[in-house]
Amino acid sequence: MSILLLGKSTCPICGLTIKEGDQYYCFPAFVININDELFFFNDDNFHLDCLNRHKLGEVAKKYANLFVERIRPDNRRCLITGEKITDPNDHIFIDYLTSNEEDYLHRFNFVHICKSSLANWELRKPLVEELVRLKNSGKWQELAGRDYLGKLISQLS
Ligand SMILES: [Zn+2]
Repeated sequence: MSILLLGKSTCPICGLTIKEGDQYYCFPAFVININDELFFFNDDNFHLDCLNRHKLGEVAKKYANLFVERIRPDNRRCLITGEKITDPNDHIFIDYLTSNEEDYLHRFNFVHICKSSLANWELRKPLVEELVRLKNSGKWQELAGRDYLGKLISQLS
């Protein structure tokens, strides 16, 4: 979760300080792709009013809330088997990929997969192909030194 210092942190929308008594919203680090329109909100704090007036505020809150919900240990269920994943070495978490509901990858936002079930999974090949397409499209870019998407592709391949 982002670090909020009341009286010091500024709201990226209005540029003013978030003070004690203000209503605010703290975003988790839920967007990896710096080209994504929601990256603006990633790991940052906003006045609730500013956020609610912003054209992307609603959708940003939707995906951030979904992220927080899905990473709870109780919700760590494999997409393929429906079983709870308890072994961290068997666990793959697919982070937020896209907010475009038309995109094939949208259904894989915030999904858990156990590696041991990958071998016979019919969606493995199309998923990897789409992830490679995204990686090569130029639409996906990460902060220097990170390669989440590359690692995810090799984990699934
Ligand atoms: Zn503000």
